[in-house]
Amino acid sequence: MKKGINLIPSRQEFWFIPLGGTGEIGMNLNLYGHNGQWIIVDCGITFEDRPDDNGIMQSRIEMPLIDFASEQRDNILGIIATHAHEDHIGALPYLWEHLGCPIYTTPFTRNVLRAKFARNNCSAPILDVVEGGTLDLGPFNLTFIPMTHSTPETQGLIIQTPVGKVFHTADWKLDADPVVGAHVTPQQYQTMTDIDAVVCDSTNALNPMSADSEIDVASALLTAVSDASRRVIVACFASNIARLQTLGSIARQTNRHIGLLGFSLNNMRRCAQDAGYLQTDFNPVDRQHLGYLPPEEVLAIATGSQGEPGAALHRLSTDSHPDVNLQAGDQVIFSAKTIPGNEQGVEQLINRFERMGVTVFQADTSNLTLHASGHGGEPELTNMYEWIAPSAVIPVHGEPEHLIANANIAAAAGVEKQLVGRNGDLYDLVNLTIRPNAVPVGRMTLDAYGQLMPS
Ligand SMILES: [Zn+2]
Ligand SMILES: [Zn+2]
Repeated sequence: MKKGINLIPSRQEFWFIPLGGTGEIGMNLNLYGHNGQWIIVDCGITFEDRPDDNGIMQSRIEMPLIDFASEQRDNILGIIATHAHEDHIGALPYLWEHLGCPIYTTPFTRNVLRAKFARNNCSAPILDVVEGGTLDLGPFNLTFIPMTHSTPETQGLIIQTPVGKVFHTADWKLDADPVVGAHVTPQQYQTMTDIDAVVCDSTNALNPMSADSEIDVASALLTAVSDASRRVIVACFASNIARLQTLGSIARQTNRHIGLLGFSLNNMRRCAQDAGYLQTDFNPVDRQHLGYLPPEEVLAIATGSQGEPGAALHRLSTDSHPDVNLQAGDQVIFSAKTIPGNEQGVEQLINRFERMGVTVFQADTSNLTLHASGHGGEPELTNMYEWIAPSAVIPVHGEPEHLIANANIAAAAGVEKQLVGRNGDLYDLVNLTIRPNAVPVGRMTLDAYGQLMPS
């Protein structure tokens, strides 16, 4: 019998099955099953460098193989999108037609998804949920829990069935002043009771330090921009709406005009403003005007902090941007961490800027707090486990070493069971055990015509 077929949870069972993101970074896709029915939490992509037919390395998108989920499509009640990052929603335009159920999410993520679907001719229905609200999908009672992260409206989930209750954290950190979004207090976690398992983000489990606060980034960026005598370009992730708000406020305080260089920044600005964010101190000038303004009056935000070819920062570094030509004395600030694997591209970018006489400040090397991670380190994980006191932890969202580190932190914080597995394992949430390799897993990518094919 083919693996995974006829695997149906009974009314005494409650299962968690990750198809992506557990044992790897990126392409998160999680199934929860009870009494013959399922919900899916997130449906993301990852980027991988692979050689093309000519042996040249190309970055391409990959996403989880969903044979098991698509076999169950008649019994899938909904897909929950926890937040607007590509590793959580990026595969929906390609995989939704094989799943065919409504997508539930908050307004900002809905706007990002709608724009994405419009570009990909996807007609998936998206239904709004309220931050902190509840939703009943068949036997699943869901409570949306506001989490602090590097994009707005990130939602954790309490998923309750008659036989068990889990807290799925999604991506999170603790931040006393996140600049944009809900101020999450410890009480939110301290009042959670009877949680059988916390299914928890492991990204920064190897980091012994807490994540920096977004408000510290704001003061560091203000210092850097105040000290600059000419143009300042700040490179950051477009979905970090708090960072955009910070830069808008800094522009006002330093008598500069804000400008946006890059498609995704303009897209995210629209999605954010339509959801009620960036309402004050954020009125970018047309990018065509940026080049004509006095250099000391320009603060531009640019895409391409990872050295991506063709992105705004890359074009600025090769003096091929249609609107802005940087000159000696201008300044570029990387308000983003270099993602492992992108070091070479970023280094080339910096070398080109320095040859132009442009001063470069990098979050990776600066003494200033020019970037804050969206994921909590060991102190936050410890706090969470002590506050919630679950029976078990299920580390997800990380490579095996991150999962193990997260499990060890939970054990030290008094969590009795640590269930460390990987994609395709069946986690029994009633008995708190793992059945390894229960369903098929793998990866898919897109061919030259945009059709899905095995990776
Ligand atoms: Zn995220
Ligand atoms: Zn993520």
